[in-house]
Order: sequence, then structure tokens, then C-alpha cells
Amino acid sequence: MHTLAASLLVLAVLILSARGPLSEYWLSTWHWRFGIESFPSGTSHSPWLQFSFVRPKPSNATAATALERYIARESAGKRRWGFDSSTGRGWGHAPEPKLLGFGWDTVAHADWFGRARPDLRGVNMAWSSFGAPNWYWAILLSAYPLIRFGRIVRHGTVRWWRLSRTCCLSCGYDLRESPGVCRECGALRTGGPASS
Ligand SMILES: [Zn+2]
Repeated sequence: MHTLAASLLVLAVLILSARGPLSEYWLSTWHWRFGIESFPSGTSHSPWLQFSFVRPKPSNATAATALERYIARESAGKRRWGFDSSTGRGWGHAPEPKLLGFGWDTVAHADWFGRARPDLRGVNMAWSSFGAPNWYWAILLSAYPLIRFGRIVRHGTVRWWRLSRTCCLSCGYDLRESPGVCRECGALRTGGPASS
């Protein structure tokens, strides 16, 4: 039953996120940011969920050294990672669908860090995204719970069928002539209607 609940929870999250404004959740370290971004309908896509990986990308050795120095200085004594989220941002980048509805790309923002900090001139930002429409994710995420649920239903149906026909629960052999132990597989007879 927990698999069915998980599947319904995933669907509910997708439906709710599709109705709200653009929302995003980020896990950050001093070297990269990993985020889940939800785009509502009304943007360039149908409701869309994507995973993004953002990291600084120095364009040369000098910029790389400057970036490492900056990180070492700023991160000293601070937490190695952080979490933040935001909703309703006015802009967002979602890649165009490429294969079977999935889309991905990497957008390079030249001198993104250098614009704010002259000491980081030449440090670009690489923003990679991988996404798909919400209903794609819904199918992918609910496939396993649905298969599990199907197995439970099939198992229950087979059990009910064998019980109602006085057959062995483990192998299906006809037990009307052998009330104690199954002659086919040796399983003890448990439950089921008494043979008359
Ligand atoms: Zn049997």
C-alpha cells in the first residue's frame, strides 16, 4: 500500500507545482549548485520539471586561481553546503525538448562572476539543465509503484481462484482428493473451504 501512496504523493506534488508560480529548490556548496525547478503552464512549455547543475567555469588559468582563492577565503570557517528555495521568479530557462520530449542544454554566461566582482574576471557560469514535461515524470515515477500494485492484485486473484476451487495455494494442484497435504508439492493445506 505504501507504494501506491508514494505514487499518489508524486502525482499530487506534480499537479500542485504545475499550478503554482515558477518554484525552485537549490542545494549549494561553494563549488556548485544543484536545483530542481518547476515551470508552470503558460511559459514556453507545458508544465515542466527540470534538474539544473550550475557551476563556475574559469576561462583561463588566472581566473581559475582567482576563483580558488576567493572560495578558500570566503568559505573559511563556514558551512560547506546550504539549501535555499524561491518562488515566483520572473525568468527561467528551460531547454527545448530534443528526444522523446526530454530537453537538455548547457548555457554559458560569460564573465557572470566578474561582472559583480572585478577580482573574478574571466570566471563564467555554466548552467546545465535536464527536464521533461510533468506528465513524463509522473509516468516514470509511478511505473514502479504501479508494477508493484499489479503484482499484489495478481497474487490476490490467484490465491482467491485456488481457494475457491480447493486447489493447493502454493502450486495449484487439485486438493479435493488429498485433504491433508498436497500430493504435488507437499505443502500443508491451510485455510480454504472444506472438501465435501
Ligand atoms: Zn501443492
